[in-house]
Amino acid sequence: MKYTIKQLNKDFPNDDACLEYIFKARFGNNPACPKCKKTNSFYKISKRRAYACSCGYQVYPAVGTIFNKSSTSLTSWFFAIYLMSTAKNGVAAKEIQRHLGVTYKTAWRMANKIRSLMKQDKSMLEGVVKIDEMYVGGNPRRNLRKRYIKKTPVIGMVARGGQSRAKVVSEAETRTALKLIKDNIKIGSTIMSDGSGIYRGKLKRLGFKHSTVKHSENEYVRGNVYTNSIEGLWSQIKRSIHGSYHSVSSKHLQSYVDEFVYHYNHRSLKISSLFETLLSNLCGQPYLEVNESVSWLSKIFS
Ligand SMILES: [Zn+2]
Repeated sequence: MKYTIKQLNKDFPNDDACLEYIFKARFGNNPACPKCKKTNSFYKISKRRAYACSCGYQVYPAVGTIFNKSSTSLTSWFFAIYLMSTAKNGVAAKEIQRHLGVTYKTAWRMANKIRSLMKQDKSMLEGVVKIDEMYVGGNPRRNLRKRYIKKTPVIGMVARGGQSRAKVVSEAETRTALKLIKDNIKIGSTIMSDGSGIYRGKLKRLGFKHSTVKHSENEYVRGNVYTNSIEGLWSQIKRSIHGSYHSVSSKHLQSYVDEFVYHYNHRSLKISSLFETLLSNLCGQPYLEVNESVSWLSKIFS
């Protein structure tokens, strides 16, 4: 079933409902108070983003999350998270600004914070993995005047199962590429690349199998259908940058690439699960006491 805005508004009608979700996601449905050990004892303190136990112990569920110290309402935050989880090709800050009636600066910051939850995970790709480079940036109109515009290289890897990684690099050269491969692909895997000299003769020494394919044999992209190919990832990145973001500075490019990879890796998930996954990413962070660096969770569960 499609998760609609209507459903979102029903699930999270106000800030209290959002805070309750964050509280439960971080502490469980009915956590015991770490001070008096009672369960079923927490209640919401009115007009504050806080809960208190009947013994007086207080909890601030938003502390340590992206909502901390933000004066923007939690319903606005949840709406922005919903937007960003539904838009495969990204959401421009302008769109968030328009929907929420916040300033552009606030919208941009919110998008940036939400994007920080879409970081690529560190598990290793394995099996058959395709690797390729693409270049982002440069203004075509300027190119006509033959001015030199440096494009930013991105190296991408897609495993046959469909999981991908992509990293912005300063130079698409052998040393960088080999380090990325070692950090992201299990030794023993088969790496497929085009004839690029970057990889030639170097992978076997590191314990990988290597096969080269002609680029033309690799063109799997059919319209908007994502196939398990590096071209599918590249075309999504290009579409997103040209469509929603127009141009992206190289300083922020990695966080946008993270967002595209996130969508690419979750492309078979339904919108409701995407939204839930993103929400739980942001709510599942361990809770630290405001004035002590002891995790409350570990106290409860130790
Ligand atoms: Zn208590």
